[in-house]
Amino acid sequence: MGFIKVLVGLLILVFAVAFTYYNLQPGEVKFYDYSIKLPMFLLVFISVGLGFSVPVIYYQLREKALKRKEEKVYKLLNLFWRDYLGKAFNLLRKFLITEEFLPFYIRTKKEFNESLDVQLDLYNKGIAETALAELTFRKDLEEAMILLENALGKNHKNQRARKLLRSVYMVYGDYEKAENLQREVLKDIEKERKVREERVLASILAEKYAVTEDKLILKELWNLPISKTSAALLSSMVGGGEVFEAAYNLGILPEVIKIMEEKNLLTPELLNLIENYKHIIPDDVLYYVYLKLNMNEKLKDINPSLRELNVVKDNDSRFLELVRIWECDECGKEYVRYNSVCRNCLEVNTLKIKREENDDNRQYK
Ligand SMILES: [Zn+2]
Repeated sequence: MGFIKVLVGLLILVFAVAFTYYNLQPGEVKFYDYSIKLPMFLLVFISVGLGFSVPVIYYQLREKALKRKEEKVYKLLNLFWRDYLGKAFNLLRKFLITEEFLPFYIRTKKEFNESLDVQLDLYNKGIAETALAELTFRKDLEEAMILLENALGKNHKNQRARKLLRSVYMVYGDYEKAENLQREVLKDIEKERKVREERVLASILAEKYAVTEDKLILKELWNLPISKTSAALLSSMVGGGEVFEAAYNLGILPEVIKIMEEKNLLTPELLNLIENYKHIIPDDVLYYVYLKLNMNEKLKDINPSLRELNVVKDNDSRFLELVRIWECDECGKEYVRYNSVCRNCLEVNTLKIKREENDDNRQYK
């Protein structure tokens, strides 16, 4: 490499000397009344040199400005990580012309219990609305929905807004809108996250099927990766044994069986299958299954581990409704019945059967 550099340098030098030798004659440069005579080679060298140096100077200045900005961002992130939010907050104000920094800003603002009066018309990328919706949906889902629809109006390719809004539609039971939005999400999805989002689509379609009974939906569902909801639906149909197997391999079979119990999808044929997998199904779930199918003699052998279930066993069956057997893997919110979407954190497919702490062995014998 060094040799090539020396060689190229020498060639340029030889060329420059030769060029100078052949262009010693004077040339004249004029501007208004002024004129100057210089050797031709010098004029050429000066104009080539200027041509190169102007962009070089421009880029160096630009780089310096960027560097200063970069240092400020580092400083900002550093303050955030070390939890000096007040200092970070003050520094952030200088960044607010850039919408990308707004989510940080309003999160800190909330930390100080300041009101979130963001001037939305100052921004045009939809990031501001999305960040606000994320902070407000627990208090006001309607408001979050409007914010997210506005965010997507400004930039339809905002995946975060799409996913959130799709979940909001699911909470409202508007599966048509949720489905359309989820298909948009899948069009732009990064490869590593595709299956996860396809499972979300499967859940939406399974919920939609429960309302419309559209056979085309079923056809698509058989070709999608399973979710807990879609597996519960498909398991109750001809060929459902394979789905049972797939759910078992994914570790979601107890959830699928519990959902089938809740949605009245259990059949006597399925009971044989359930018996085959009995060793991995928590007693709590079996308890519900036998109760639903009126198999009271089997109930005697079961020891449900959830304390609330024990209370129920000794009391009237309507207390069953009080038992929150589900919990969200993402936020920990507990539920009586299964939902594809967690109303508390808007994540999809995250509900799982609750287990008593340190009680895994008793549950999964
Ligand atoms: Zn949750």
